[in-house]
Amino acid sequence: MINAQQVKEQARRLGFHRVGIAAVEPAPQSHLAEWLAAGYHADMDWLTDARRQRIEKVLPGVKSVIAVAMNYYWPGEQPQVGKIARYAWGRDYHRVVGRRLKALAHWLKQQVPDCETRIYVDTGPVEDKLWAEWAGLGWVGKNANLITRQYGSWVVLGEVLTTLALTPDPPHTEHCGTCTRCLEACPTGAIVRPFVVDSRRCIAYHTIENRQPELPAEIVPRLEGWLAGCDICQEVCPWNQRFAQPTDVDEFQPRLPPLSLKAWAEMDTDTWDRTLRGSALRRIKPAMWRRNARALLSRCASATPP
Ligand code: SF4
Ligand code: SF4
Repeated sequence: MINAQQVKEQARRLGFHRVGIAAVEPAPQSHLAEWLAAGYHADMDWLTDARRQRIEKVLPGVKSVIAVAMNYYWPGEQPQVGKIARYAWGRDYHRVVGRRLKALAHWLKQQVPDCETRIYVDTGPVEDKLWAEWAGLGWVGKNANLITRQYGSWVVLGEVLTTLALTPDPPHTEHCGTCTRCLEACPTGAIVRPFVVDSRRCIAYHTIENRQPELPAEIVPRLEGWLAGCDICQEVCPWNQRFAQPTDVDEFQPRLPPLSLKAWAEMDTDTWDRTLRGSALRRIKPAMWRRNARALLSRCASATPP
C-alpha cells in the first residue's frame, strides 16, 4: 500500500509544482449553489451540472482528491492593446497538465491495481479551486483565483480523484486580509463583492466564452486593451507581484505570433487553425476573435482626434 507522501513525491517527479491531498469527507463548503442562483455563471450551463456539487457522482466511492498546480508564469510585457491572458501564451495547459495527470493516475494504478481514478484539468464537473484550497495548495482570493504562497495565482490546476483513502493535508487558510486591490482595479465592476465574480460583467468571460456576434455595449469601452481573457485582477494582486517566478516548464513558453489587431479582425478559419494549433485559445472561434479585435479597433478609432 502506498501513502500520501509517496503520492506527493511522485507528483513532484512528474513536474507538478504543488501537490496536496483533500479528503472527500468532510466535504469543503461550496458557495456554488448561491452563485448559480444569482445567475453569475452567465450562459455557461456546464457549470450547473449537479455532479459539480456531488463529487461522489463523478467517481462513485471517491475518498481523496489529489490536487496539483503548475506555475505557468512567463515574464514579458503585454502590448497596450491586443492583450492575451498569460495562461494562454504557451501550449494548451489542458494538455500540459493532463499528460502528467494521466501518468500520475497510471502510476497509482500500478501501485494499487484495484483503485479507481479520474483526472480533470478544467475538463469536468469538479470545483477545482475549492478542492485545491481544501487540499492545502492555496486559498481562493477575493478575485476568485486560487492563490499560492509560492507562485501567487499564476498557476493552472488539475486533480486526480481516487477511491484510495490517503492522509489529507490541512486546508489552506485565507490571506487576502484587508486588501481590496482587485475589487478596485476591475474595470467592469465584475467582482461584485469579495470572493464573488459576476461573469456577465467579466472581460475574461466575454472575450473567451460569450458566443454572441457582438460584445455588450457596456463592456466594449472597458476592455482596457484585452483581446483574449483578462489578467487585471491578478496583475494588481500583491501576492503575484511579490511571488511570481518564471516557470521551468518549456511548454509554457510564449508561442503565439505577435499579430496586429487588424490581422485578428480579418482572420480566416485556415489562418486561425494554423495560428492557434496547440493553444488553449482555440476555445475562441474565428468569428469571436474577429469580434473581439473589432471591438478594440472601434475604441482605438474613437480615441483618435479628428
Ligand atoms: S478578469 Fe478582469 S474583468 Fe474579470 S474580474 Fe478580473 S479584472 Fe474584472
Ligand atoms: S488583490 Fe488583494 S484582495 Fe484581491 S486576491 Fe489579491 S490579496 Fe486578495
